[in-house]
Amino acid sequence: MTIENWYESHFESRLTGRYITLEKIKPILHSVKSSMEISVAGVSEKGADIPLVKVGHGKKVVLGWSQMHGNESTTTKAVFDFFKFMNQEDHFSAEILQFKEDYTFYVLPMLNPDGAAAYTRENANGVDLNRDAKDLSQKESVVLKKVFEEIKPTLCLNLHDQRTIYGVDNGLPATVSFLSPAADQNCQVTEARKVAMHHIVGMTEMLQQFIPGQIGRYDDTFNANCVGDSFQQLGVPTILFEAGHYANDYQREKTRSFIFYAMLQLFGLTGVSVKMNKYSDYFNIPENEKNYTDILLHNVKVRGEKKLQKISILYQEKLESRDVRFIPKIDAIGQLSKLKGHREIDVVGAQILINSQENYHIGQKVLQIKDKKDDSTEYFTLD
Ligand SMILES: [Zn+2]
Repeated sequence: MTIENWYESHFESRLTGRYITLEKIKPILHSVKSSMEISVAGVSEKGADIPLVKVGHGKKVVLGWSQMHGNESTTTKAVFDFFKFMNQEDHFSAEILQFKEDYTFYVLPMLNPDGAAAYTRENANGVDLNRDAKDLSQKESVVLKKVFEEIKPTLCLNLHDQRTIYGVDNGLPATVSFLSPAADQNCQVTEARKVAMHHIVGMTEMLQQFIPGQIGRYDDTFNANCVGDSFQQLGVPTILFEAGHYANDYQREKTRSFIFYAMLQLFGLTGVSVKMNKYSDYFNIPENEKNYTDILLHNVKVRGEKKLQKISILYQEKLESRDVRFIPKIDAIGQLSKLKGHREIDVVGAQILINSQENYHIGQKVLQIKDKKDDSTEYFTLD
């Protein structure tokens, strides 16, 4: 059985979509109890539990945390796929046994349960926990630091989502991006950074078979208030994972599988051996760029403009009746020469009507786009 075959029929199907909350993960944690140790590491600003999961009993101690940003749930789904993988005996049992001998993997699957419930990046006090590494002003930040100091990891996994605006500088969407964060202003390649880079090279090589050219390298500007940078500064290799967009996968169910595969690769669980590359191959991974939008209209005749224009439409995510809605809004109008769209529509020089109006503006919600001359030509309608 291949990993992909296993995944298709065994992934954690109780967690799907973008809105993943503590309420949803608690019963699942309860059900995997037999093969893992589950405890509560602390509580959030609003008093919600922050669960801690421990798998394995080996010497290599790894600490991962997901949903530090409440609305970034893809890696949480992948972490639960990993728990499901660990909690079975029918397949890959020798590999799993070996993993448990070699590693002790601690995971905080939801560091920011209040933000997850509200579907916000920040916690209940509106603080971005990934800018609180020095100040430790929030309970969630203290919990992470306390776990870090208690377990003394030799590797950290900082698990996030990135927006659909990110592409790779080869023009493809950045479906998965990695970073070995900087440890100082000069971005020196420290020993800890090298270790993280080496792992990233291995995961990137393995992922190329699934998403060739769609793996990016995240910006490494140093910020001591970012958790990854601060741990790296303390000499503990830290890897930033950024789950991004895959074609037509706004629920990020495909992307979660790529994060899962990457984690298996990191822990030597795929059975796929990659060439032991040099850490410096990390610098050959193409850089992330902000070169994407959700919908790009080409050749629009805009009133008062001689040249045909492009219109960029970005989805705004909004929590509504316990579901995440994607609201299309005009983000930019102009030549937008370097921009690509996950969906592109050529309106071939038509003067268009947005919501039946000739005048439209940035920030406007888009319900419908029609050709002004030919009312039957409808380019876009919000579902
Ligand atoms: Zn994030």
